Amino acid sequence: MEKTKTVTSTAGYNTRSGKTPLDFATFKKKTKKQLSKNSEDVAETSINTDTTDDTNPSKRKHITIESDIKKNKKVPANWEQVLSNLRDMRKESDAPVDSMGCDKCHDENAPLQVQRYQQLLALMLSSQTKDQITFAAMKKLINHGCTIENVLKTEDTKLGELIYPVSFWKNKVKYIKKTSEMLLKEYNSDIPDSVEKLCKLPGVGPKMAHICMETAWGQITGIGVDTHVHRITNRLGWVTTKSPEETRKALEEWLPQPLWGEVNSLLVGFGQQICAAVKPQCSSCLNHDICPFGKKYLKGEIKRTKVKKPT
Ligand code: SF4
Repeated sequence: MEKTKTVTSTAGYNTRSGKTPLDFATFKKKTKKQLSKNSEDVAETSINTDTTDDTNPSKRKHITIESDIKKNKKVPANWEQVLSNLRDMRKESDAPVDSMGCDKCHDENAPLQVQRYQQLLALMLSSQTKDQITFAAMKKLINHGCTIENVLKTEDTKLGELIYPVSFWKNKVKYIKKTSEMLLKEYNSDIPDSVEKLCKLPGVGPKMAHICMETAWGQITGIGVDTHVHRITNRLGWVTTKSPEETRKALEEWLPQPLWGEVNSLLVGFGQQICAAVKPQCSSCLNHDICPFGKKYLKGEIKRTKVKKPT
């Protein structure tokens, strides 16, 4: 599979996959069609439930459960307006993630297989680490020679020096070495091409796996939810969840699939520039009168925000 390059959208910001986000009119049309398809599915399922053979209770039970899940899907009010405002606020594409995100750290002149390895390593280094630090560490690694074979030949202490000061650099040295060994032996020096297999690599979780599938393989398999996406979608009332993985599942329940690839880079940059973990700039946010958290924050009903480490 060929990797696609990042492009600038008609809305003025970048996506990781290189797929151009839809302009708002097209997006609304597609979304309306998808939501109406969902309603049809629910209606269809309900009809099936009514006409299910009563002599087969297990089948009837299965259909009822599926129908109930679809009916209970919570689509937040104003989400299209919120998204449009987010796109407006991000149209300059000038957040750290836009120039130094994990999809910007690899050597574009290297063979595609090596680029994929470097994209995976950038994601591993990026956990709990600012984009600027990850970017600088990847530059040092690439100058050293960032191929599976060369990384395996490099002493742990040297590898540590190269990636320092990324967070948890000692653990990451171990993960990088173990992962590189697995890639060499089990994947013929390439990276796996599925979320399931990527998650089996040491130090790789679902967030990294979904983003990696998009940046390295050009496939949107799910929403990459990091601390920014988790925090902001909870503040906006798009989800009510306790962990990034819960957030991913809850968002994927209602957010139209064509938007899954866009939402990560859009919200990460927004979190870096405006909706910060500490002291969000709600007064200058276009969503301040429709965001549940922002309304309370500006009224002084929320005095403090939780301090979280940036990613
Ligand atoms: S109003 Fe405040 S909390 Fe809500 S999205 Fe904007 S910056 Fe974030």
